[in-house]
Amino acid sequence: MSEAVFGPGTPGVVEGAPETVECDVAIVGSGMGGATTAWALRESGARVLVIERGDFAPREYQNWSPRAVFREGRYKNADTWVGGDGRRFTPGYYHFVGGSTKLYGATLPRLREADFGEIRYEDGLSPAWPISYEDLEPFYGEAERLYLVHGDGADPTEPRRSTAFPYEPIPHEPPIEKLAERLRGQGIRPYHLPQALDRRAGGNCVLCRTCDAYICMLDAKGDADLCAMRPAIEGPDVRLMTRTTVARVVTEGGAVAGLEASRDGRRIQVKAKRYVLAAGAMSTAALLLSSDGPGGGGVANSSGQVGRNYMAHTCTFVAGVRPGRDPHFVYHKTMGISDWYEAGPGTPFPLGNIQSLGKLTGTTIKAARPWAPTAILDWFTRRSVDLFAQTEDVPLPENRVAVEADGSKRLHWRPTNLGPHGELVKRASGALRKAGYPLVFTQQLGIEATSHQSGTARMGTDPTTSVVDPGCRTHDLDNLWILDSSFFCSSGAMNPALTVAANALRVVESGVLTG
Ligand SMILES: Cc1cc2nc3c(=O)[nH]c(=O)nc-3n(C[C@H](O)[C@H](O)[C@H](O)COP(=O)(O)OP(=O)(O)OC[C@H]3O[C@@H](n4cnc5c(N)ncnc54)[C@H](O)[C@@H]3O)c2cc1C
Repeated sequence: MSEAVFGPGTPGVVEGAPETVECDVAIVGSGMGGATTAWALRESGARVLVIERGDFAPREYQNWSPRAVFREGRYKNADTWVGGDGRRFTPGYYHFVGGSTKLYGATLPRLREADFGEIRYEDGLSPAWPISYEDLEPFYGEAERLYLVHGDGADPTEPRRSTAFPYEPIPHEPPIEKLAERLRGQGIRPYHLPQALDRRAGGNCVLCRTCDAYICMLDAKGDADLCAMRPAIEGPDVRLMTRTTVARVVTEGGAVAGLEASRDGRRIQVKAKRYVLAAGAMSTAALLLSSDGPGGGGVANSSGQVGRNYMAHTCTFVAGVRPGRDPHFVYHKTMGISDWYEAGPGTPFPLGNIQSLGKLTGTTIKAARPWAPTAILDWFTRRSVDLFAQTEDVPLPENRVAVEADGSKRLHWRPTNLGPHGELVKRASGALRKAGYPLVFTQQLGIEATSHQSGTARMGTDPTTSVVDPGCRTHDLDNLWILDSSFFCSSGAMNPALTVAANALRVVESGVLTG
């Protein structure tokens, strides 16, 4: 069966539902971790099969419709989960080729050097990683090239770089430039956000309003589908099986013996020499926890840490309104502020990072203000500059993914670092007011905001307190690696996806998946 799947002339996307597929490396998930791994393996000589639950994201008019996306939830295709309080919710992650990056905001910062060390907060310890920033540095550069990152490096906390940003920063629109100028007048040092967009000469990106949280109709976002998965399957050795859900990791004597999956109601067995889980931090943990049946302790879980230490960032939308003329914002996601990222004289704890968001509209915020007429919300959001304040979420064992005896998936999470986060929101609001936006509205995000999920199979050298080793191989199973955001030891206060990609490149480069 494997001959029909691999080789020159076979389709990159596997057709039909073969009963058994054999390969050298089986990768579960085609998101940032999975697709980057497949791309990095494309010329290794290994036969690589990527198994993806979702299909290619549809290209259609509704891609750019706030109503279809936010009111009708047209692309919300994650399973329903139950919160610690028993309330059911649909998390904000997505099953498409490219995973959540199909809808992401495409802001791709590196973590800072200090994020890899220990930081003590009132709410707990952000532990040191067993790898350093320097171990990832060259791979951050490679990931920035792969994902078309535009930036200026003017962030005052920008870590050491051996390579410049591959592309020029995305210019601010005039009202954002004016805001940046006024912030500089307050001693704040705004910079251009590192954005993954195809603004190369002849690139497709038109800098529209419908980028962050939307699927790009023009294939112009630097996402894992376009930049990694599609190029990877052009060669003979990487194949993608869409609409295929892995339900179980089967183990035998200290190794993975196979994966059980289903496609269009038919069962498929995948046999490989090596296996990579990259299903996203929540789904990877749920898959491991449910793989040995109800009541079992879970696969690769001798430490009892699988599913624990879930992190998501503590986040708030901060919208500053300047009544008066409509400034006609279009693509206003270009400005970042890191002045309070590190502890300092006025900040005993790191407070976090602030970024401009994809433009809010009345429809996007209607769910948060259901009593307000949409026309009023539209009036405000046309005049608002919208920021996103994010603070590090500390890993706690009780913040975790669990799978109940009946198979239902539960997420226990209480946001951490609310003190530093409140201070960050206060400073952002104050800076906006002083800069001429007198009305400021804030909205803290809840458990549904899982987009920056990480940490459920953390990396470490001690097999009793961590799930994977510094090379991301599970301590328990010789031929199983975890290469999505599950391996994070701490979350920092920067968006996670570039670190997921850089780490996948690092692990492939080390040769462990092919040697
Ligand atoms: C709206 C939104 C905005 C975001 N903005 C940013 C941003 O600006 N910057 C940033 O850095 N990050 C952002 N993120 C987060 C970013 O997308 C994630 O950090 C990143 O995609 C994580 O990569 P991953 O490989 O861990 O998981 P994913 O990219 O989510 O990939 C997991 C893949 O596994 C598949 N899968 C799951 N279960 C199974 C199964 N059982 N069998 C087969 N396949 C399975 C899924 O369908 C999915 O394709 C955003 C996310 C969202 C939702």
